[in-house]
Amino acid sequence: MQTLTSYVQGQWKPGTGSAVTLVNPTSEAALAQCSSGGLDWSGILRHAREVGGPALRALTFAERGVLLKNLSNALHAAREELIELSIQNAGTTRSDAKFDIDGAIGTLAAYAQYGAELGSKKILADGEGVQLGRSPRFFGQHVLVPRLGAAVHVNAFNFPAWNMMEKAACALLSASPVIEKPGTPTAMVAWRAAQVALASGALPEGAFQFVAGSISPIFDHLTSQDSVAFTGSSVTAALLKATPAVVQRNVRLNVEADSLNAAVLGPDVEPGSETYSLFLANVAQDMTQKTGQKCTAVRRVFVPKGRERAVADDLVADLKRIHVGDPAEQTTRMGPLASASQLQDVIAGIARLEKAGTLACGGAARARERGYFVAPTLVLAREAGADVFHAEEVFGPVASILPYGSTAELVPLVARGAGALVGSIYSNDSAFVQTMVLELAPWHGRMWLGSDKMAEQSLPPGMVLPALVHGGPGRAGGGEELGGLRGLAFYMQRTALAGFKGVLSDLLPS
Ligand code: NAP
Repeated sequence: MQTLTSYVQGQWKPGTGSAVTLVNPTSEAALAQCSSGGLDWSGILRHAREVGGPALRALTFAERGVLLKNLSNALHAAREELIELSIQNAGTTRSDAKFDIDGAIGTLAAYAQYGAELGSKKILADGEGVQLGRSPRFFGQHVLVPRLGAAVHVNAFNFPAWNMMEKAACALLSASPVIEKPGTPTAMVAWRAAQVALASGALPEGAFQFVAGSISPIFDHLTSQDSVAFTGSSVTAALLKATPAVVQRNVRLNVEADSLNAAVLGPDVEPGSETYSLFLANVAQDMTQKTGQKCTAVRRVFVPKGRERAVADDLVADLKRIHVGDPAEQTTRMGPLASASQLQDVIAGIARLEKAGTLACGGAARARERGYFVAPTLVLAREAGADVFHAEEVFGPVASILPYGSTAELVPLVARGAGALVGSIYSNDSAFVQTMVLELAPWHGRMWLGSDKMAEQSLPPGMVLPALVHGGPGRAGGGEELGGLRGLAFYMQRTALAGFKGVLSDLLPS
């Protein structure tokens, strides 16, 4: 069995004490183990702050962009090996593995390009300057400067490569040294990707450290220039928000958490239309891609009252075509859940949804004797207002159909998700779309507007793009990542400068 080591203070080190075992979720065979016992947490942070930080800050944005491009190339060269590991340790099909790994490679490349465009700058202007005195000689300008601490990244199990590199891309471009901790059940992919990244020589020493296993003890050592970007459940997020590091020392914390993403079929969308086909394809893909273990997956499907049966039948027809099985086999379209505890949670969650509706397909049972398999599961709600549909994220290939009568009824129902990463609206009626955006955008980090006009070119709503903000209010954690250069702000200090306009211009060469 392989031992996953941590890369800390310039070397790969095994942890001590009791280890967690990682398995192949298809066969349930043990693959590896890891532990972070015995690591020197204050030493790791010191290494980031005193070695990695100064080395990154010595570089311009363009030079850090080159660093990201080199990382992207190194991961691309190891792509096949990483895909294979993902199939084994995360239970992903080849296509789902590519979604994660190509997402990592692409996001690094996108931020490399942002770096190239920023050129020789080391400070960013934040918005336009403003005249403060009688003449423009006394001028004000907000700027963003790199912070001096470490960027601690705590990631979820479902995107071991993308989650690691989308956060790292923003942090490294901002000159923040990274301490990465992936979700343990699928950490083999992240571990190997980290090895590839470090072996590439692209990174100055101290710019990237990697912890396999628990990272909780590091919170006792964080200080106010450090930042934590967390992706995971709202339960863990609540624990982190309550740590003295956050409450007393004001360590920055960005949270990307649960989300009961909605897909709304507009009343104007006729069966057989382009928008209707797009709606069906996206919902079926969202439910089954990565076995539904996607924070942006659709969980609540809102359908005009009276059409719920027909929509369920159409979706079931699509879902029945999805072959569930060993992800290593080419005919398989959906693999197992990533871990035994995921299987337990998803089965229990389906059972709770089922009590408030009827099953259109799937159900609360293992789909195979061995491995963490469940079938794609669609629940038809008896009562769209039942709490369970709006409060419980079942993190698997599971969604519910919720009928709505009018726009006035629909809006508060969608809002009961209490904050989401992405909401998708399918309609060609611009008045309906406008109402949806005005009423529902405050509950969303991103709204995806599906229509006949963009159907052919569109990327699905579940896909997170580097150029658009990822994150959402309320239940989704209240955080924000990516969004082009917006993603850098979390790792930088916004400072208002007031002084002679010439001095400010020298600081911010165009
Ligand atoms: P999780 O159990 O909350 O774990 C997330 C991360 O936190 C893991 O790395 C975990 O480490 C770590 N962790 C757990 N307890 C901790 C503690 N006390 N102190 C510090 N770190 C701690 O979530 P998960 O099961 O991995 O992921 C599934 C959840 O993530 C779902 O709810 C999903 O919606 C959400 N998610 C959200 C997004 C988003 O962008 N909004 C993206 C993906 C997933 P171990 O693995 O070692 O326990």
